[in-house]
Amino acid sequence: MKKRIGIGIDLGGTFIKYALGREDGEILAEGKKKTSAEAPNDIILNDIASAISDMKQNAINKGLKPVVVGIGTPGAVDVDQGYLMGGTPNFKYWSNVSIAAEIFKKVKLKTFVDNDANLMALAEAKYGAGSGYANLICLTIGTGIGGGIIIDKDVYRGSHFAGAELGHMSIKHDGASCPCGGRGCLERYASATAICEYYVNLSLQAGNSVNKKDITVKQIFELFKSGDPIAEATIEKATYYLGKGIASLINIFNPDRIIIGGGVSGAGKIYIKMIEQVAFQYAMPNGTKHLKILRAKLGNKAGYLGALALAFTQLDKGL
Ligand SMILES: [Zn+2]
Repeated sequence: MKKRIGIGIDLGGTFIKYALGREDGEILAEGKKKTSAEAPNDIILNDIASAISDMKQNAINKGLKPVVVGIGTPGAVDVDQGYLMGGTPNFKYWSNVSIAAEIFKKVKLKTFVDNDANLMALAEAKYGAGSGYANLICLTIGTGIGGGIIIDKDVYRGSHFAGAELGHMSIKHDGASCPCGGRGCLERYASATAICEYYVNLSLQAGNSVNKKDITVKQIFELFKSGDPIAEATIEKATYYLGKGIASLINIFNPDRIIIGGGVSGAGKIYIKMIEQVAFQYAMPNGTKHLKILRAKLGNKAGYLGALALAFTQLDKGL
């Protein structure tokens, strides 16, 4: 069977990362273009279209013809319409945009759009750590915590595309207030931001003054690996909360695999092991029998690979 070819776009606040690829996930070309979270919508749309043209030309040079475009963007997306519903905290004007329709006008290729955390999950499901399994939960641990739910090999988005906000699962009913309007959200307790906060506060309690701006999660993990007791207490606290949150997800979804991605997952095996210990301790035992918690495999390629996966998945539905 001839494999279809598409273009995957991963829109971020500073760069658009993109690729030309086959439906089995083989990447034929890739690129990166600067964009700006401060730019008006028509500039961002033009940047995306120019990335697509770049890949189209690359395909022509190879004697190939892409048939579809997939785009991942931050924010909530009406996937049926390819429409960004409302805005996204990092972008100044990027809200309420008919992304699929606008891009189709410019590049004349069928275009599908979804939220970037959903696409990271879909990428890992099709081409990464979750490949071959039907039901997955993905968590992206960065400044916040993003989530993606895969049920029967496809993204579960809720009835009106507002589901899978796993970072806003409350793990403390009277906990810290969150910009989402809730209290005690997981991302307030286990994100990179939370890890840095713990480290600064525990340092202060120990009589050391550390400026929040001077410390990164990467440094905290390095200190942790070298046996620094404050870094150890910090990571224990963050993985405890993340593990407890994951235990609830196991009880609800009974997934085959849980995949942890994002900047913090770069901390490696020990971090995943610590999360797993807590999660398996608190989840109901039937849910953990066949379960593994794994580190995401695709790194920063997950964005455009997920966009490609979306494009072919939607085409297969006859959309
Ligand atoms: Zn929240």
